[in-house]
Amino acid sequence: RGQVRQTHTPPPLQEPSGPSPPSQAQQKESVQAVRRSLPVFPFREELLAAIADHQVLIIEGETGSGKTTQIPQYLFEEGYTKKGMKIACTQPRRVAAMSVAARVAREMGVKLGNEVGYSIRFEDCTSERTVLRYMTDGMLLREFLSEPDLASYSVVMVDEAHERTLHTDILFGLIKDVARFRPELKVLVASATLDTARFSTFFDDAPVFRIPGRRFPVDIFYTKAPEADYLEACVVSVLQIHVTQPPGDILVFLTGQEEIEAACEMLQDRCRRLGSKIRELLVLPIYANLPSDMQARIFQPTPPGARKVVVATNIAETSLTIEGIIYVLDPGFCKQKSYNPRTGMESLTVTPCSKASANQRAGRAGRVAAGKCFRLYTAWAYQHELEETTVPEIQRTSLGNVVLLLKSLGIHDLMHFDFLDPPPYETLLLALEQLYALGALNHLGELTTSGRKMAELPVDPMLSKMILASEKYSCSEEILTVAAMLSVNNSIFYRPKDKVVHADNARVNFFLPGGDHLVLLNVYTQWAESGYSSQWCYENFVQFRSMRRARDVREQLEGLLERVEVGLSSCQGDYIRVRKAITAGYFYHTARLTRSGYRTVKQQQTVFIHPNSSLFEEQPRWLLYHELVLTTKEFMRQVLEIESSWLLEVAPHYYKAKELEDPHSKKMPKKIEGEASRTQHQLLFLLYVI
Ligand code: ADP
Ligand code: MG
Repeated sequence: RGQVRQTHTPPPLQEPSGPSPPSQAQQKESVQAVRRSLPVFPFREELLAAIADHQVLIIEGETGSGKTTQIPQYLFEEGYTKKGMKIACTQPRRVAAMSVAARVAREMGVKLGNEVGYSIRFEDCTSERTVLRYMTDGMLLREFLSEPDLASYSVVMVDEAHERTLHTDILFGLIKDVARFRPELKVLVASATLDTARFSTFFDDAPVFRIPGRRFPVDIFYTKAPEADYLEACVVSVLQIHVTQPPGDILVFLTGQEEIEAACEMLQDRCRRLGSKIRELLVLPIYANLPSDMQARIFQPTPPGARKVVVATNIAETSLTIEGIIYVLDPGFCKQKSYNPRTGMESLTVTPCSKASANQRAGRAGRVAAGKCFRLYTAWAYQHELEETTVPEIQRTSLGNVVLLLKSLGIHDLMHFDFLDPPPYETLLLALEQLYALGALNHLGELTTSGRKMAELPVDPMLSKMILASEKYSCSEEILTVAAMLSVNNSIFYRPKDKVVHADNARVNFFLPGGDHLVLLNVYTQWAESGYSSQWCYENFVQFRSMRRARDVREQLEGLLERVEVGLSSCQGDYIRVRKAITAGYFYHTARLTRSGYRTVKQQQTVFIHPNSSLFEEQPRWLLYHELVLTTKEFMRQVLEIESSWLLEVAPHYYKAKELEDPHSKKMPKKIEGEASRTQHQLLFLLYVI
C-alpha cells in the first residue's frame, strides 16, 4: 500500500570533459551537468512530492545514484532549511561523512563548514550557518542528549540504513518515537537495494520510493583453489590485471588500515622494481583514519595512460562511489566485531563477508561500463560458506555504551524498546551488569550521578570511568593523554619494511616498566616536549598524523573535564596512580598468568599478550588489556601490569578477595558464606530492572 514505484528509464550519461582547463563558469556548468546526469535527477520532483505527502519515506537506490549527495540539496533548494531549520544526514562511517560533505559543499559552491558541514566524533566542522549537516549516526544519537526532540531539524535522513550499524538501529527506534510527537518532522530512510521492505514495515508501512539503477553487467571470476595468503594473492592479482587487462581502475577490498598499508607498500615496491616495464600504477589507500587530504586523492581522475588502484575497507562497498572502477578484487573478508554474551567478551575478528556484501562489492565494477570482479575464493565457497547477509551489529556487540545513552535519555524499559531486531537478552543483561559494576547505575538500574557524567563523555563507558577515576588519583593530565592515545589506536608507530630494525629499536626505547599504556604516555610526553615536532616523529618512527589526532582528541576531552567535575592534576611521576585510575575503568578486562598461560579472571578464557606489547617478554602475573583481537589467537592489545589488590580497591563490588588469590599459595582464607552467590543476587536484581 502507498508504494511509489518508478519505471522510467533515465537519460543517457553526459560525460563532462574538455581539453583545456575550464573557467569558473564552465566548472559550475559542468558540476550542474554532473548533478543532472545522476540517476536520481529525473525523479527530483516526484521525490519532493512524495516527501511532502508522507512523513516517513524509505528511499531505495543503487549505490552511486545520488541519494547522499543530491537529496539533501534538493531539500535545501525546496526550502526545508528556512527559519533556521537544519537537515541531518547520517553516515555509519566517519570517512563517508567527511568526504560526502566536502563533495556537496563543492557542488553548492560554499566553503565546507559554512552552509554544509560535517560532524564526527572529536571533529566538528560545522558553524552557526550550517544547515546541511552530514554526521555519523553516533553523533546524531548524541544529539538526542542535548535536544531530545531534535527540534532544530526539519528533516532527518538516516542514510546507508542497510548497513545496520548499532547506532543506526538505535536511531530508528528513537526517531520513530520523535516523529509521533513532531508531525512536521520529515524522516527519510535511505538504503542500497537491500532490506527496504523491513524498514517500511518498521515505520508503519511507510512507502518505498525506488530510484531505478543503472548497472552494467559484471563478469565474476573465482579462484580454482582457496588462497593461503590473500594479501599476497591480492598484490599478484592487481599486477596481473594491470599488465593484462584493458584500461580501467581497480578497487580492492581489504579489512583494515594495517592490511591496507601493507598491501600498498608491497604494490609500490613491486612496481618500483618493474620500473618502466609496466605503465604507471597509482596506488591509493582509503580507510577510516586516513587524513582528509589523502582521502580526496582517490576521487581525482586518473591521468591518461596510467591506472589507479584503490585499496579500501568496506567503506567503498556502498558509502563511497569512485568513478572509473572497472575491476574489483574481492578476497572476501571483512573485519567484524563479535561478542559472546555468555562471557561478555568482545573481539575484533577478520571473518568471511556475506553474500550480500560480496554482491555489493562486485556491483562497484559495473557503474560506468561492463566490468569484472575477481573473487579470491572458490565458487563453492561462495555458494556454501558465505552467510546470506551480515548479522546486524546490535546482535554482535556489547551494549554498554548504548544502554548508558538510553538511560540518560530517560528510557528505562529496554526490553520493550522498539528495536528493528532486538539484541540478545543476555547482552542487555550484561550491559546493565557492567554499568552497575562501573557505578553508572544503581541497584535499581537507575542512572547515578557518576553515570550521568560518564554519558557526557563521548567515549566508551570504561574509558569514561577511567577519566572520572583520575580525579581520585590526581592524575587527570596523564589519563587524558592515555585516553587520547588509546583512541588513535594502533597507528602510533611507523614500521617501514626497509627499516624494521631501526623502527623496532625506536619503539623499544619508549618502553617503561608497567606496560603499554605508559609507553603511549611516554611517546606523547616526549613529543609534547619536542614542541609537537614532526621532525621528532620522523626520527623516532612515530606517525605524526596519529599524534596530531591524539592531540586534538586530548584537547577536546580536556574541554569536557569541567562538565564532569574533574580537575586538572598531574601524578608527578607516580605512575602507580595512573595505573590505578586505568584499572578503575578496565577492571572488567583482566587476565592472570596461570600454569597454562593467561586466562581472563572472570571468564577463564585463554588469551595471549600481543607480540607488539612491551610486556610480551615480561609476562607479569596480573594484567589488564584494552581490547581483544582475534587473529590466529585471541590477542590482548595494549596491556598494563596491575596488582590484584588494586582490583579490590577499585571494584570491591565486583571482585571478591577469594578469586584474586594466588592459586599456588597455600594461604587460602576460609570461604565466606554466601559470598559466591552474591553476583547471582545482583543478576536477579537486574532481571527485575529490565
Ligand atoms: P549514493 O548515495 O546514491 O550512493 P552519492 O550521492 O554518494 O550516491 O554519489 C553520487 C555521485 O557523486 C557519484 O557518481 C559519485 O562518484 C559522486 N561523488 C560522491 N562523492 C564524491 C567525492 N567526494 N568526489 C567526487 N565525486 C563524488
Ligand atoms: Mg550514499
